[in-house]
Amino acid sequence: MNPWLLIYNDDDPASEGLREALTTLGNGYFATRGAAPEAHADGVRYPGTYVAGCYDRLVSRVAGRTVDNEDLVNVPNWLPLTFRVDDDDWFAPGTVEILTARHVLDMRAGVLTRLLRVRDSRGRITWLEQRRLVSMDEPHLAALRTTIVPENWSGTLRVRSALDGRVVNSGVTRYQGLAGRHLVPIRSHAAHGVIGLLTRTATSRVEIALASRTTLTGGRDHADGGVSHDTRKEWVSDERTVEVAEGQEIVVEKVVALHTSRDRAIAGSESAARTAVARAGSFEALLGRHTRAWDRLWQRAHVTAEDADVQQVLNLYIFHLLQTASPHLAELDAGLPARGLHGEAYRGHVFWDEVFAFPFLAPRFPEVTEALLRYRWRRLPEARWAAREAGYTGAMFPWQSGSDGREETPRLHLNPRSGRWLPDHSHLQRHIGLAVAYNVWRHYLATGDTAFLAGFGGELLVEIARFFACLAVREGDRYAIRGVMGPDEYHDGYPDRAEPGVDNNAYTNVMTAWLMRRVLDMIALVGAGRVSREEVDRFTAMAARMRVDFHDGVISQFEGYDALKELDWASYRRKYGDIRRLDRILEAEGDTPNRYKISKQADVLMLFHLLGSDGLGEALTGLGHTWDSAMAARTVDYYLARTCHGSTLSAVVHAGVLAHVRPGASQPFLVEALNNDVRDLQGGTTAEGVHLGAMAGVAVLFERP
Ligand code: BGC
Repeated sequence: MNPWLLIYNDDDPASEGLREALTTLGNGYFATRGAAPEAHADGVRYPGTYVAGCYDRLVSRVAGRTVDNEDLVNVPNWLPLTFRVDDDDWFAPGTVEILTARHVLDMRAGVLTRLLRVRDSRGRITWLEQRRLVSMDEPHLAALRTTIVPENWSGTLRVRSALDGRVVNSGVTRYQGLAGRHLVPIRSHAAHGVIGLLTRTATSRVEIALASRTTLTGGRDHADGGVSHDTRKEWVSDERTVEVAEGQEIVVEKVVALHTSRDRAIAGSESAARTAVARAGSFEALLGRHTRAWDRLWQRAHVTAEDADVQQVLNLYIFHLLQTASPHLAELDAGLPARGLHGEAYRGHVFWDEVFAFPFLAPRFPEVTEALLRYRWRRLPEARWAAREAGYTGAMFPWQSGSDGREETPRLHLNPRSGRWLPDHSHLQRHIGLAVAYNVWRHYLATGDTAFLAGFGGELLVEIARFFACLAVREGDRYAIRGVMGPDEYHDGYPDRAEPGVDNNAYTNVMTAWLMRRVLDMIALVGAGRVSREEVDRFTAMAARMRVDFHDGVISQFEGYDALKELDWASYRRKYGDIRRLDRILEAEGDTPNRYKISKQADVLMLFHLLGSDGLGEALTGLGHTWDSAMAARTVDYYLARTCHGSTLSAVVHAGVLAHVRPGASQPFLVEALNNDVRDLQGGTTAEGVHLGAMAGVAVLFERP
């Protein structure tokens, strides 16, 4: 077993979406799902190409309300390539019998190979080998090399290569009620062996330009002559016709360039794409440079596992992380989308998931973590404005972020189980700001860069600290934070309270105290700068006096948690089998998770994950609480018994935390964390985009001693 290869030996429509997501190729600037070149979105296959930071906003009507959603745009498809024999149909899914189908993702080289042997209705058998890359060397280039061998026939072969701007965002069934037509066609052209397509996004008006050059070698000239074109506004193709003889090899190379009007150092997206493709070399030349670039990345990123199966998964997860957060990202204004550049789940939005990636990326690719923090810093004005609007000072970062950093969390979400659209309060996860601050600190620890702390890193820390200082209210001798949500999204309020949000979420409060300490550390290192004496006093007081509730000798996830009911876990497991999405199950029953002691994912346990057992102990004793290893073990066991792991992040956190606190109990979570995406454990969600936070978290688990 070669741990660098991910191999599929069949053509299974039921798992096509999963395979497409897991065989996505990308370079941090853009990524393309591993869809077949002859495919279009048909319910089984879903070609998708996404450019980092390229968003568009559209208005829809759902449940009688007008909502606007910002999507990471599915840009025109550069892959289309198909063929036909004589005057038969174009080769397309379902038109021929598949005799052999094999897909091989080579993670070391970043190359996807597809081998296909097909028989048409007249018994003609054709061999096809396709290799593709999305260049890690030149982030605007991609290439597809197709070898066609007529195994038992001779005749006329036509090959069509196209750029398709008719695609829409429709990759997630749950979002189908929402508008998804983001592309406005502008024009296409065909000249000097190059075809080009220019579109723009509907609202953000980002131009997206594709140019492609296709060459064919092998075969004899056909009477029809060389190349014909079809240029329409939203689609452009060229077609080549040759006479082929049985056993003869035909090689078709398609090299593509992609630019958008957001790119730097270009005169225009269309001319940039045209020039790039004209100057790009052959597939072989591109491949050489591309694999050398991957070599360099792996030298910085490789993590070793003892077991070959584990090594393969580890390679796969790091591969997808690097395809989204490669050093090319350092040149861009883009965050880390929770689902990579691999699909449309969560509309390509940026959440807190990067908190799982920073420990891996910061020591290896500090230029990438710096860029991810710059993405946040550029959106400080928006976060300051959001804080002001809500009546606070400082910066309030959005739970879901996109182009300009406004809050992108939808106000409604669909429960597919009940068919109901429900209010979504998850924007109350104010802890997102704490994750940004934690990442600032991680980047600083990895780089030792005090200039960063004195500069934009420190500005982020202070503005986030100001927000939490204002959000917290003094009650007696403690500081309380009311009306928020913790990482456990199944609790968005109290059963008997109309206002959403919970009070004194332990994760939020302890991390707030941690943040105050880090700001004081920063001041000690680089000076107080713009922080006033009063602010230093306030930060110092909060560092020592944030409120944390306890019950039964364990940390309470939030104030009042103790009064909630126990769920009859056994009966829910019996009735539903998979109970990860207890929120949907309970809502469909007319009930609510808010009534129960249940958690979607690690919440209190996130404190162990981020701070370590010792760090958490220091934080709690620093707050004046008693804490020992018995309480730590009790707290872990308590929440372990009440968590249903409705997020892929949960298994990663549990695997790591249990390895320290309850070593014997860690293994099943490690296995689950490893299988999360490769086996699609959250039932169909990986096809809609990989879970980058969980993937990165797995890599971190293996680098720990
Ligand atoms: C999790 C969040 C996460 C988001 C994006 C949700 O299901 O609960 O913690 O940030 O997915 O990955």
